[in-house]
Amino acid sequence: MSFDRVLGQEFAVGTLRRALQGGRLHHAYRFEGPDGVGKEMAAMALAQAHVCERPVEGEGCGRCGDCRRAQTISAEAPHVPQHPDVIVLEQGLYNEIGIEEKQGISVKQIRQVLLARLHVPPHAGRGRVVIIRNAEEMNQQSANALLKTLEEPPARTHFILLTSKGRMLLDTIRSRALPVRFAPLRDEVMRKILAARGVPASTVEQVLELAGGSVSAALAFADAEETEARAAFVEGVRRAILAPDASEALALVQARDKEKDALKDRLAVLAATFAREARQQELAGIAARQEPDWVRAVLGALRELERNVAPALVLETMLLRMRQAA
Ligand SMILES: [Zn+2]
Repeated sequence: MSFDRVLGQEFAVGTLRRALQGGRLHHAYRFEGPDGVGKEMAAMALAQAHVCERPVEGEGCGRCGDCRRAQTISAEAPHVPQHPDVIVLEQGLYNEIGIEEKQGISVKQIRQVLLARLHVPPHAGRGRVVIIRNAEEMNQQSANALLKTLEEPPARTHFILLTSKGRMLLDTIRSRALPVRFAPLRDEVMRKILAARGVPASTVEQVLELAGGSVSAALAFADAEETEARAAFVEGVRRAILAPDASEALALVQARDKEKDALKDRLAVLAATFAREARQQELAGIAARQEPDWVRAVLGALRELERNVAPALVLETMLLRMRQAA
């Protein structure tokens, strides 16, 4: 069921599940806690509980058409859930359709995206959920436009305000929404989620401490580290090719972690880098010299990896070919 996807937030999820099962759901909640700990996922689970065609113990099944449309984001602007009864507000989200916002959630967004749509009942006659991301970005004016509706929403309409800066929520808004707290995720939960997102275990251990229990922060750190590692590999290869003797190349082969997938990733970046440099030289009117040969050597190495030649041997052979072409 849809709340099963929200990992490591037993307290928050327990609160919401009990309210759902007991039919005591409040009409307005504020989910407070750091970014990247599951607030939005929990909001989506709550939305599915309201729109699902076949709820199971009060929760969305996660599989029916309505559940799927609730969590499928439209490809075209505004990029919001496809389900008409799941309304998402966020600063700047509607810029492309004419609600220009540089700062804060405007009163125009509250009126045009939200209030104008609340006059009609929910689409399928079930529930409707309004999710406001970074709700602290409502200013006095937009908050005032919302207050009355937040206090007494139309039938079957529920509000979920998301914020990582609960103290910056306006008091008028805060007092009308029931708090549900989301804690930073524990390390073992982070490990599970990041592994499922394909982050290598060694990287996970490096970013855990920096991330402070936030999946989005961990992914950002992991990515920065990857970017750095890739750049270092490209420069290492360049030095190895141009060095007067093969010692740099040998050092690189020995230092490389021998993992096939990691090497494939690095080689793909390497081929793209050299190909880009060759194009730039051509555009500048300089005939690219070694780069096309280098690209061919990298592509050859990728083919050898596919044929399960040992990564260290592949790398060594490639560097040798490149040095010969240099
Ligand atoms: Zn469903």
